Amino acid sequence: MPRNRSPIWHPFTQHALQDEMTRVVRGNGAYLHTADGGRIIDAISSWWVVTHGHCHPHIVRAIQEQAAELNQVIFAGHTHEPAEDVAARLLKCAPPGLEHVFFSDSGSASVEVALKMALGYWHHIGKQRIRIVVMQHSYHGDTVGGMSVGARGVFNEAYGPLLFDVTSIPFPATGREQDTLDALESACRNEVPAAFIVEPLILGAGGMLMYPAWVLREMKRICEASEVLFIADEVMTGWGRTGTLFACEQADITPDIVCYSKGITGGALPLAVTLCRADIFDAHYSKDRARTFFHSSSYTANPVACAAARANLDLWQDPETRQRVAAIAAMQEQAIEPFRDDARFGDVRQTGTITALDLKTSDAGYLADIGPKLHAFFKDRNLLLRPLGNTIYVMPPYCATAADLDEIYAGIKDAADALAGRNPLRA
Ligand SMILES: *Cc1c(COP(=O)(O)O)cnc(C)c1O
Repeated sequence: MPRNRSPIWHPFTQHALQDEMTRVVRGNGAYLHTADGGRIIDAISSWWVVTHGHCHPHIVRAIQEQAAELNQVIFAGHTHEPAEDVAARLLKCAPPGLEHVFFSDSGSASVEVALKMALGYWHHIGKQRIRIVVMQHSYHGDTVGGMSVGARGVFNEAYGPLLFDVTSIPFPATGREQDTLDALESACRNEVPAAFIVEPLILGAGGMLMYPAWVLREMKRICEASEVLFIADEVMTGWGRTGTLFACEQADITPDIVCYSKGITGGALPLAVTLCRADIFDAHYSKDRARTFFHSSSYTANPVACAAARANLDLWQDPETRQRVAAIAAMQEQAIEPFRDDARFGDVRQTGTITALDLKTSDAGYLADIGPKLHAFFKDRNLLLRPLGNTIYVMPPYCATAADLDEIYAGIKDAADALAGRNPLRA
């Protein structure tokens, strides 16, 4: 007999094991306030979306003002100032050479749009290129296209029949980078694929796996040589997470197609964009209506979400934002340092504002029991940390203080102590 028949079916939640949801009533900076009067440090930016902090006043004001002015309008055949402004400013701050912006409302949708743009491009220029190359351990969203180009596993096992076939190249683990590049080169040469899609510098949901910028640059060069479209999924890495505004900057590359979402509104409202080069737009540009880009969602470029994105872009024009990002990255570097000599942890790593470390255990993988145990331990400490299996990572909003980080890392150290048996972990 089910213990809890929650009327709400929560995402990535096994209701038979988690009977109580944390009820949150207010967000403020790096903190979430709960209905029972508690205060939680949001150490994972509420699933990687909150960049400047919860309820940033500049973004809140922009939302309030736009909501009273124009809060929704059909985007086919119509446009509005917030979207025009966001598009123009995005094209200025994105890598040079991207010329068009397509709006959608989630990271998954922006990936679907990217895949459809790539396939549409080859179709409309009359070339038979349909295969997609992906990287092992990648995550690109939970829609069918996103799952197809993402890692196969327990997450999508039941939906296997819906997924299309892709070519996968190995993750560029330290010392094995050449294997990745060789595999990409061979896939590009032998299979003449339509596109290669990759998360630049960090594979997020795959376990915060990091690789250096030179590998990203080489992968772009290989694709370019075979005219394979290079799609960068910056849904997680964008908006300062890797230390620069966008991860691709560090490799000095311009992808043919790029996806941004999550932090695009500072984490306040759902919005996503897919940017592309002119020739991809041009392949669809025709008096022939059959060459229209057939994609939309009801809320494409919602004006309120665009106003939030515009406020986020304002904040990125303020030099103080980049200083905050640099400060968080430096604080993270200091905070993670002691864990490098702690034998209970392995693969202590950092890219920009993100740190990750693996708790050594015989019990690894996303479904390992250690995951929910750690989650419960951190919850008890009023820390929002959601380990990916035995991988603990810290991705705070940029307003987090040194004291917040101290509290987060003390919690991580105490979790390891508890596992070693000094204090039993709550099950
Ligand atoms: C979160 C994420 C997505 C999916 O975005 P949603 O807004 O959750 O649909 C896609 N790609 C990457 C790299 C992500 O981290």
